[in-house]
Amino acid sequence: MATPEQQPGLLLRQIPSVDEVLHEPVVQRILEAHPRWLVVEAVRETLEECRQKLLTLLRQGVETTPPDLSTLLSEISLRVLHRARPSLRRVINATGVILHTNLGRAPLSPEAQARVQEVAQYYSTLEFDLGQGTRGSRQLHVEGLFTRLTGAEAALTVNNNAAAVLLSINTIAEGREVIVSRGELIEIGGSFRVPDVMRKAGGTLREVGTTNRTHPKDYEEAIGERTALLLKVHPSNFHIVGFTSEVSLLELVTLGRQRGVPVMMDMGSGALTDLTPFGLTGEPTVQEAVKTGVDLITFSGDKLLGGPQAGICVGRKTLIERLRKNPLARAVRIDKLSLAALEATLRVYLEGEKGLATIPTLAMITCPLEQIRQRAERVREGLQAQAHPSVRVTMEEQRSEVGGGALPTARLPTYCVALQSTQHPPHRLEAALRRTDPAVVGRIKEEKVLLDLRTVQDEEVGLLIGTIGPILANTVEP
Ligand SMILES: *Cc1c(COP(=O)(O)O)cnc(C)c1O
Repeated sequence: MATPEQQPGLLLRQIPSVDEVLHEPVVQRILEAHPRWLVVEAVRETLEECRQKLLTLLRQGVETTPPDLSTLLSEISLRVLHRARPSLRRVINATGVILHTNLGRAPLSPEAQARVQEVAQYYSTLEFDLGQGTRGSRQLHVEGLFTRLTGAEAALTVNNNAAAVLLSINTIAEGREVIVSRGELIEIGGSFRVPDVMRKAGGTLREVGTTNRTHPKDYEEAIGERTALLLKVHPSNFHIVGFTSEVSLLELVTLGRQRGVPVMMDMGSGALTDLTPFGLTGEPTVQEAVKTGVDLITFSGDKLLGGPQAGICVGRKTLIERLRKNPLARAVRIDKLSLAALEATLRVYLEGEKGLATIPTLAMITCPLEQIRQRAERVREGLQAQAHPSVRVTMEEQRSEVGGGALPTARLPTYCVALQSTQHPPHRLEAALRRTDPAVVGRIKEEKVLLDLRTVQDEEVGLLIGTIGPILANTVEP
């Protein structure tokens, strides 16, 4: 039975009103630093939560008292701090997935960062020809770099690769047929499905072959009056093994030539540098694809290229010219900040070997295992020194993925710091790391939280230790 003091009405009335709380000196100070709407919202939500909690306890017949004011105020101030943080903010990627789409794919090189900063801060030559004093083209900043790097005749850069594919198919095949192998009708994360893009672009999909095997004669027999394009798609995030057969790009190009049908390749990732010396085989470079004589290639700017989000079309000049004139090109055009980062990234490629180490994506892929081991050792020591005895901090050899639809089966050897608590299940610990500032994202494997040091940059190590050390020291509420 509830005692008189426990009557719901009485208890609830002891919770202060929004107005009363807003007049508290602590809250007044918070109001000096944060917008009023944000503080009011935080106060309202905190009080409402408190009310609900009390009601629940009362309903369960649990004896309780209203929270004291100072507890409420510290909850409010925490809530304001959380709300005031930018929503899009830094994360330490300890997943080991280098091109992690959800974590922003490729971090930019110092050169690219500097160009973005300058173009963001000031006016720029975006579409201005300084020589003539007249309107210029934003494409000129990167087109020459792409043709030089890839060997293609012309290039057009748009917002992302999905847009590049959409624009290309719409330009070449609207109202007509596009022949694609069944084994290449892929879906990649974020709802990019080849058949759906095809439909939106106005092309009709003509599937040939089977999931695991497609032969040149499958394409050959499908070519007819309405055929506008032969399309080859990089399978990106999966690999078919076993009894398989696919038509190579060169075979497709030869067939297209014979029958007078253009051939396009959606490469997805678009490596501009050969990664086989680093044990990553099977990812063709854009240069190699261009050499086959394919009419059009599309690829992303922020996958293996290691630049900003962008979609690049390279190929035959007459085709690129048609893409440029399509009204859709304006709708999917690239913005100036991405363009600045892209130009800087491509210039790094032209510097050769030495420059490439400054592109974070490539640096992470090619990082010597010994360097990752040393990084992991530093983190292990740093965390061990702070961790509560109930937390085990060890180091183990593991495998990291490239991600971003590149090299789906490749696994790079790496070192991880493994965390295991006798008091908390791994998912609790992993969630606690995500709530720090900056957030740390790791992965769970075999009851342990793994922090993969391949995707943590050397200069982030101190921050990583400083951020999660206190969490491991505190075992009461991780
Ligand atoms: C990643 C990918 C895309 C989409 O590229 P975005 O730059 O993310 O728009 C399209 N096709 C393939 C084959 C891909 O791997």
